[in-house]
Amino acid sequence: MRIDVDPFSGFCFGVVHAVRTAEELLDKGDELYCLGEIVHNQQEVDRLKAKGLVFIDHEAFKTLQNVNVLIRAHGEPPETYQIAQQNNINIIDASCKVVLGLQRKVKRAWEEMQEKNGQVVIFGKSEHPEVIGLNGQTDENAIIIRSVSEAKQFDFKTPVRLFAQTTMSIHVYERLKDYISELLSKNDCDDFKAYNSICKQVSNREAHIQEFAEEHDVIVFAGGKNSSNAKFLFSICKEANEKSYFISELGDISCEWFKNIDSIGISGATSTPQWFMEQVKQKIEHECI
Ligand code: SF4
Repeated sequence: MRIDVDPFSGFCFGVVHAVRTAEELLDKGDELYCLGEIVHNQQEVDRLKAKGLVFIDHEAFKTLQNVNVLIRAHGEPPETYQIAQQNNINIIDASCKVVLGLQRKVKRAWEEMQEKNGQVVIFGKSEHPEVIGLNGQTDENAIIIRSVSEAKQFDFKTPVRLFAQTTMSIHVYERLKDYISELLSKNDCDDFKAYNSICKQVSNREAHIQEFAEEHDVIVFAGGKNSSNAKFLFSICKEANEKSYFISELGDISCEWFKNIDSIGISGATSTPQWFMEQVKQKIEHECI
């Protein structure tokens, strides 16, 4: 039986940087709070909690003063930095540099759209922390849509700047771009710019994971239940290989999945730690085959 851990899966560089930053400070003995889950993965959250990292939500953040608070890779809206200044909170900014660059572009686009009576459209999930950070650059005036059918509720007639949450599907983004472009043309407006802001770390994985899923008899995909990237990459696995199974914990593995097969592929999301995928492999080797 062949068992392969997908070498292209696991943390993206944004998450690696945030986790390393947190660990360096915790190892020095610093008290450190983290605003929101550092990564949508319970095992990694628990590991860092055991090292002393204290996770807080935005309500608790407002009540803190004179402490160190880490901003995770997803980034934050301007309001968070304002609160930090008022409360003398020392921000350790581990926002991913790709996300920070995108925030700056969205801000510039919003300034331009205000002059032209246009709209900033974000292809993403309104409740996702990265999208909340992006929408903050527009004073929360962006139109946030997650599908072409949602876009159909809007009759775009004035200039549009389209952006995407970095972990969305490139295929849906392309369809959305075409839809808005055609609608604007019909409405006699040709001032449309679309910025493909989907992260290459994510879009490159799309093609790779499809191949990986096709090459193995069974796929065990490890990811957090709240991770949009995990749901998205798993859907590609499932389409390429019907025998793909989603797990969040070692206890989710069923040995029944591995009967009469020759190969198993273990893959994960950009938020899945490499060490967890190795544990999955060991569990399967020791208990199932
Ligand atoms: S997916 Fe890309 S943009 Fe998002 S945190 Fe990771 S590296 Fe940064």
